[in-house]
Amino acid sequence: MICVKCGYTKRGSETDFICDDCQKFSVIIDNLWNEVNGVFQELEVINPETDPVLKFLSDSSFITHDNPQTRIFYKISSLIINKAWNHDDTITELELNRSVSTTRGWRDVLKIYEELDIIEVKTEKYQRILKIKDKAQKVASAWRSLESIDKQIVNRTALIFSGYVLLYILYKMNKMRDIEDISQMPYSRRPRTLWVSLMILWSKPYEGEKSINEDEITKFLGRRGIPSGTSLKIKQSLHYMTKDTTGMIQDVSLDKDGNRVYKYSDYVTIELERIREGRTRERVE
Ligand SMILES: [Zn+2]
Repeated sequence: MICVKCGYTKRGSETDFICDDCQKFSVIIDNLWNEVNGVFQELEVINPETDPVLKFLSDSSFITHDNPQTRIFYKISSLIINKAWNHDDTITELELNRSVSTTRGWRDVLKIYEELDIIEVKTEKYQRILKIKDKAQKVASAWRSLESIDKQIVNRTALIFSGYVLLYILYKMNKMRDIEDISQMPYSRRPRTLWVSLMILWSKPYEGEKSINEDEITKFLGRRGIPSGTSLKIKQSLHYMTKDTTGMIQDVSLDKDGNRVYKYSDYVTIELERIREGRTRERVE
């Protein structure tokens, strides 16, 4: 039998099987979604620097923007944030087609943004018009008052914003109880690589571990049929993060067998422990 969510196989005849790892990960997704959605719903200004949970989202995004299944959400989020930044609240279908290429059509993607109340889709003169709502403006306005805004800040904000959208998709995937429910997902597909990669990377610090061994990542992904090339890319990205002191991983060392051991940044372990214990968020003012 095959796990409905991650593709893990084991012997048996149960039809709607969900593996132990996915069941545990479900709790993490639920807690994280409540936390992040709360930030987006309640706050007047959404500032990534004062909310470590948003930094965490942005630091986890290296998995999403290279992934062909999820890249489109990053591109659209980027377009929306850039517009909001310039006090513009309208995107035409023509602009959308110019900035983001897809062969799959817009309907399913735009539906997600509508469900999250980020945009409203209207039709004018035979084309779609996307009206940008409050949430994107709140994110953009956190930084707008700065005198000089560099491109990096805009990119980082777009990453957080697409992180929010993708977390919502994972939250929807979390609600899948059997394989029929896949029709509720955009394009009737599960972002399985995203789910499996984040499952191994987030579960460790959530359970209180300070580091993760590359061998564990290889085995975990391999058991779920994720191609070894993808696995290698993730490990390379983790390694690369240690060059910059602000990412999800702060340090790398070798174990006795010569495998790399990635140490999570302190804020990651602190933040996930807080979420696990259900403590409320503290903002750095
Ligand atoms: Zn599973």
